[in-house]
Amino acid sequence: MGEFELIRRYFAAAACAQAAPGVALGIGDDCALLEVPAGERLAISTDTMVAGVHFPAPCDPFLLGQRALAAAASDLAAMGATPLGFTLALTLPAADPAWLAAFARGLDHKARECGLALIGGDTTRGPLCISLSVFGRVPAGLALCRNGARPGDLLCVGGPLGDAAGALELVLDRRQAPAEVASPLLARYWSPRPQLSLGVALRGRASAALDISDGLLADCGHIASASGVALCIERRRVPLSVPLRRLLGEEAALACALGGGDDYLLAFTLPPRFLAALQAEWPLRVIGRVEAGTGVHLLDDAGREVAPPVGGYQHFGSPRD
Ligand code: ADP
Ligand code: MG
Repeated sequence: MGEFELIRRYFAAAACAQAAPGVALGIGDDCALLEVPAGERLAISTDTMVAGVHFPAPCDPFLLGQRALAAAASDLAAMGATPLGFTLALTLPAADPAWLAAFARGLDHKARECGLALIGGDTTRGPLCISLSVFGRVPAGLALCRNGARPGDLLCVGGPLGDAAGALELVLDRRQAPAEVASPLLARYWSPRPQLSLGVALRGRASAALDISDGLLADCGHIASASGVALCIERRRVPLSVPLRRLLGEEAALACALGGGDDYLLAFTLPPRFLAALQAEWPLRVIGRVEAGTGVHLLDDAGREVAPPVGGYQHFGSPRD
């Protein structure tokens, strides 16, 4: 199978690569053409996943396709952007039809769930590597940047944290668990749900936002430094799922939530007046507040600063690109 046959069969033929709103020209020419309405900005982000670094190799290609798409789409959620399309730069050791069919199905499934059209890409031979660029649109002035947090704002997250880092123990066969514990955690690892509609709802409300990909503490550090403020996180308010607690116990679950990556949930700062309306619609959790100062501070039940309990779990928290 040649390169063009491969592109045609597995990608150009996918449902997500057919005509879509906002796509004036899709796969097949030198560039795709996107429509960006007047008064809107194009939001662009690229995410690369390398075999053995960002996912275990070998792994299930359907799940890999889903996860790669979800991780890339999460950056659009974090900017409050409405998804338009994505390109796929795929480097493959070999053109294995079964692998390609399953990968393309996983990618297509998640792309349609996220409302992202496949508009182009690049296909090369080499060690397995998947690079996705996503494109979205957001009204001028309403993108959710990292630099707007102000003292007095609340610090919120979009759901329970640490599940993906906990699931990594299962993915890497370091730990076994009964299905009722393992299944929901593995689903969070292999099929993250980018919080795209929450991102849109935060336009004009959140003062700063990002998606948590490298762990809560590290990512909050980005908001703190970009905004020139301190973020204070109350340890007992960090939401942990029941399956994660059952897998690891309370302390290690908290370590995953604070230091583990790959959750792809939003963290954002919010002037308190917006909280009630948002909480009526979204399962948000307030985990702390913005103060004058610098850095990220973890507080115990008495409000005293404590060291983050990441000792045994640093391999989850070690920053990757
Ligand atoms: P060029 O040489 O002009 O860069 P290519 O020959 O690499 O174009 O690709 C031909 C067309 O197929 C282009 O429209 C490109 O965007 C698209 N394409 C290439 N690889 C992929 C892929 N993996 N998924 C989707 N579209 C792809
Ligand atoms: Mg060209």
